[in-house]
Amino acid sequence: MKNIYVLGIGLIGGSLALDIKKLDETLNIYGIDKNESHLDDAISLGVIDKKASLDDLANADLVIVSIPVDATVKLLPTILDKIPDTALVVDVGSTKVDICKAVENHPKRRNFLAMHPIAGTEHSGPSAAIGGLFLGKTNIICEVEKTTFKLQEKALKLFVDIGMRIRYMNAEAHDKHIAYVSHLSHISAFMLGKTVIEKEKNERDIFDMAGSGFASTVRLAKSSPAMWTPIFKQNKTNVIETLEEYILNLTHFKALMQQDDFEAIYGEMESTNHIKDILNGIV
Ligand code: NAP
Repeated sequence: MKNIYVLGIGLIGGSLALDIKKLDETLNIYGIDKNESHLDDAISLGVIDKKASLDDLANADLVIVSIPVDATVKLLPTILDKIPDTALVVDVGSTKVDICKAVENHPKRRNFLAMHPIAGTEHSGPSAAIGGLFLGKTNIICEVEKTTFKLQEKALKLFVDIGMRIRYMNAEAHDKHIAYVSHLSHISAFMLGKTVIEKEKNERDIFDMAGSGFASTVRLAKSSPAMWTPIFKQNKTNVIETLEEYILNLTHFKALMQQDDFEAIYGEMESTNHIKDILNGIV
């Protein structure tokens, strides 16, 4: 493997570029992005070596697609058209069903591996790229059997080398589960932020009174709408299901408050404290 092309040189694409370069300084890391200033920044930050365009993919050994999921669905067939027969293409999108469907009948489907690294922050663009972001994190791989064995091996070695744990899942199960643990958390943070901003018109009050609890709960509300809108659109059915369950829980909590049933409220919180054991070691 010599020539790596990263399409979308932001948080995830940039962080992967940094980790892969660290494994082997002789690799050529090329960036492709619709945002010219991100490419310039990525070069000056040392995230990529050179700029490139989609037409250069004829020289690729590995292509990492790290753009919003709607753009991935649109561009993935073209990317597969342009690569040589020996190249591997991976995507890092936060949804998997629509992306896998977009190339299910493509003649080079076996050159593609669908994955979702469960790592990230609320920041975006090349300046958000961090070396070591994926260390100890899970990489969910979908429809592995549809990728040639040789390219599977290549991909797995690379992602294990940068410190990731691999989990296999079908695309439908991925989208259903991720709606609960990731997509709902983002909606919850966005709407918590909205509720507080609308009520507390004085931004200085929010700043002065926001303890670490509010700041950490609302952190995800700083995330990019350009990235999240297409995720919610592609995973609409699952996300609506999670929202219905979440709203039921909020409504139930409100009813307990109205009924002065603080014993039940204590119980609700106590049983949810079990999250400490589940997330032990993550936060
Ligand atoms: P990001 O930091 O915003 O980076 C995306 C980059 O791609 C930006 O430079 C963006 O430019 C560019 N871009 C957008 N549309 C493009 C197109 N059609 N062609 C070429 N470049 C394009 O986003 P990110 O957080 O790295 O997310 C990238 C992917 O990773 C998404 O599919 C997301 O679902 C997935 N992911 C994200 C996280 C996370 O925590 N953020 C975690 C796991 C997976 P502009 O900024 O000018 O639009």
